[in-house]
Amino acid sequence: AALLRIKEVDIPGGWKVGQPVPYAALAKTFSLIESTTKRLEKNSYLTSFLLLVIQRSAKGDWNSLLQTVYLCINRLSPDYEGIELGIGESLLIKAIAESTGRSLAVIKADLKREGDLGLVAMNSKTSQKTLFKPKPLTLPFVFSHLKDIATTSGHSSQAKKVSIITKLLAACQGLEAKYIIRSLEGKLRIGNAERSVLVAIANAVVLAEKEASNKNWSNEKLIKRLEESTLRIKSVYSELPSYDKVIPALLNVGIDGLEEVCKLTPGVPLKPMLAKPTKAIGEVLDRFENQHFTCEYKYDGERAQVHKLEDGSVAVFSRNSEDMSKKYPDLVEQLPKCIKETTKSFVLDAEAVAIDRKTGKLMPFQELSRRKRKDVKVEDIQVRVCLFAFDLLYLNGEPLLRKPLSERRKLLLEHFQPIDGEFNFAKASNSQSVEEIQAFLEESVKDGCEGLMVKMLDGEPSFYEPSRRSVNWLKLKKDYLAGVGDSLDLVVVGGYYGKGKRTNVYGAFLLACFDPDSEEYQTICKIGTGFSDEILQSHYNELKPLELEKARGDVNIGGAKPDIWFEPKIVWEVLTADLSLSPIYTAAHGTVDERGISLRFPRFIRVRDDKHVEDATASEQVAEMYGRQALANRDGKKKGGDD
Ligand code: ATP
Repeated sequence: AALLRIKEVDIPGGWKVGQPVPYAALAKTFSLIESTTKRLEKNSYLTSFLLLVIQRSAKGDWNSLLQTVYLCINRLSPDYEGIELGIGESLLIKAIAESTGRSLAVIKADLKREGDLGLVAMNSKTSQKTLFKPKPLTLPFVFSHLKDIATTSGHSSQAKKVSIITKLLAACQGLEAKYIIRSLEGKLRIGNAERSVLVAIANAVVLAEKEASNKNWSNEKLIKRLEESTLRIKSVYSELPSYDKVIPALLNVGIDGLEEVCKLTPGVPLKPMLAKPTKAIGEVLDRFENQHFTCEYKYDGERAQVHKLEDGSVAVFSRNSEDMSKKYPDLVEQLPKCIKETTKSFVLDAEAVAIDRKTGKLMPFQELSRRKRKDVKVEDIQVRVCLFAFDLLYLNGEPLLRKPLSERRKLLLEHFQPIDGEFNFAKASNSQSVEEIQAFLEESVKDGCEGLMVKMLDGEPSFYEPSRRSVNWLKLKKDYLAGVGDSLDLVVVGGYYGKGKRTNVYGAFLLACFDPDSEEYQTICKIGTGFSDEILQSHYNELKPLELEKARGDVNIGGAKPDIWFEPKIVWEVLTADLSLSPIYTAAHGTVDERGISLRFPRFIRVRDDKHVEDATASEQVAEMYGRQALANRDGKKKGGDD
């Protein structure tokens, strides 16, 4: 289809080859993307803009495309560098007031009406009379100021941040203030998921290649090239999730040379492979019929991806690619003893588990979650941690992702040595009979684990799939067997005031799942029972600073009416007895039914501070769970009971 493009008239001051990207052009593109709900149209606008950026960049300039891509996904660097936006509402209100001369009270009232601080900032700017037109903002200028704001810390950092934001706002024209404020808030809310940015990059590079080739490409050739390039760029990025590395390489060597120069690299964490839930051993056997599979203990700790670089340095990354080396200095210290001499560089996939050093007993995840996330000193550590390695993704200069698990496991066992209480291999059994799996499951629970992970062992289905929740990994938790089903990780978006002696805290909460396609939070249940007074107080302390005047625009509320709204920041793990269709909540609406899906009798399990809100249970997973439950109920009825 024809590309939907932004027009020259939308770019004040114009934009010639070699000039920096005008920020107004990006803001216009954002508004076009926001104006449609159709995914193809959104992608078309983004593709045409990235194509413009490529065509107007001077030779050898890859920074323009890199910074543009970062602003499109609202980040400033790879995840593991830990530079994050997400400035609090009150600070932003202050900056808007200072730069437009309006009072805090008026801005707050506007916010209550509009529910979007970006819009409030833009309207405040438009109603402001100015004598001089400011110089047009450029994208590199905005990018470097956003980075300054995100990295300012220490003494009087709040005041410094307000001052930079005020300066940026003063230079804004038209739509710009709206998107600068939203970027600062940490969420663009234009419905532009990160995976569609990767597709747009691939499309733009192919179109640039076509336009530069001076030859006529048939439609067939173009479509084939677009499809093939998208797959290749996605696969390269999943191995090396760093735009800092992939974008310069893409512009230097082109799509065809990319795989050669962008490979898994120790120091750049991959998004981990995830598993699908199963309810019964029978289901595992059905799925893996006639295939070799293996069962491993599912340890109850924190995912740890451990990298050793050629220079000898060791880094530990979380499932969100955060650098956790400062949370686990003991792991970093212990590890060298477990590495054999032949092992120069590697990437291990493992679980860090709390352990009682005296008895050797594993302790639950909660023990680890008490640790500080930074600046932990080995001598202060009370609860030690043991690393259980279950996969080897890279060894001595070679990525292993496309080798069968049986081979990866063999290399893992050959190149590392267990040390009691510090490092071990995940306990595994390759037995394929129901009775033996049942016995292994029970043994795992007795040993303090959550259940089993069942994995394909041989051939292509057993390759490592970064960032995928794959059917080739199944989790079998003891809870499922009790008929409760999988737990969900949900975002706290609203609160209800407590009653009786609980009037000083919130007594119940509104939870939501996340739909990565529309980038919206969809409400799923109210949860209010089973909290102790102590837990309610700690939830209150954590949530109070996140209170909002009105629901954020990306929360699809449905009929829910909480007393107060929260900035979506906190993820809780929740169990449920049952899922049902609901006229009130909006989770996965339009997939199974026009109505949404809700949880019956939800029960709070724990805070998941290792998960970002975008990692919360996706709407699609909620729909899948509902589908599985409906199927199980049908089968149960067929058998003539709920035994
Ligand atoms: P949850 O941890 O609640 O099960 P999740 O969304 O964090 O959910 P899942 O894919 O559902 O992740 O479960 C896999 C998780 O189990 C991994 O992220 C890892 O932290 C942990 N785990 C423990 N033991 C193993 C193992 N032997 N193989 C793979 N993962 C394991």
